[in-house]
Amino acid sequence: MKITVLTLFPEMFNDFLSTSIVGRSISRGLAEVEFVQIRDFAHDRYRHVDDSPFGGGAGMVMKVQPVLDALNSVKQENSYTLLMSPAGTAFSQKKAHEYARKDHLIFLCGHYEGLDHRIEKYADECVSIGDYVLTGGELPAMVIMDSVIRLLRGSITEGSTEEESHENGLLEYPQYTQPADYNGDKVPDILLSGNHAKIREWRILQSLLLTREKRPDLFAKHVLSKEEEKILKKYEKEQNEK
Ligand code: SAM
Repeated sequence: MKITVLTLFPEMFNDFLSTSIVGRSISRGLAEVEFVQIRDFAHDRYRHVDDSPFGGGAGMVMKVQPVLDALNSVKQENSYTLLMSPAGTAFSQKKAHEYARKDHLIFLCGHYEGLDHRIEKYADECVSIGDYVLTGGELPAMVIMDSVIRLLRGSITEGSTEEESHENGLLEYPQYTQPADYNGDKVPDILLSGNHAKIREWRILQSLLLTREKRPDLFAKHVLSKEEEKILKKYEKEQNEK
């Protein structure tokens, strides 16, 4: 996959691109990342990329011409342009899978008061990473790139993302590692039993209970599979009998 980031601050990405799973995936050639400095497309003497908003108000708005010239310099037929915006549609794990199937992702990062509204129609999607406002689109681009790159085949161990939170609309079951007893705080016995069928059932139940408790909004939307329904009913029956 090729990733192009249009930004005024490419230096923000340095550590991100060379660290951990993202860094390893790039060095293995799973993703190729390039940067386009939007300021290089400003034509005036002072290389202005922003100006004050029409109608008045605080801050500076990024101008149409340098941004679109930067975008057109890299856009190909197979490109998919994501404009980072707090007014965009909410990013999700489902979206990460969708983007991981693209050949070429372009991230358009706004800064200051944001981008001139006329730029929006040149993007395939406006995407928000949450209901809060950040200084620029660079962190949102890194958030999305991270979740997309780890889904690329060969990035992390095959199958290790399948049971993660949000993959099937539920949160992941609790995970534990050594020691089995930390100052009296013990790992659930079932995980030490070696009984894989029982462990699987326990994990499904925990995933359901955790989601119901912590994210009732997700639980309400989740359609229980036959197996999940059976496990939950059995648990509730046991609880009622106590
Ligand atoms: N004035 C804009 C508003 O009220 O919607 C906010 C602009 S923000 C300070 C500057 C840039 O940061 C935006 O153009 C966008 O690229 C990025 N940005 C900020 N928060 C974001 C979020 N939650 N999701 C995605 N991008 C965001």
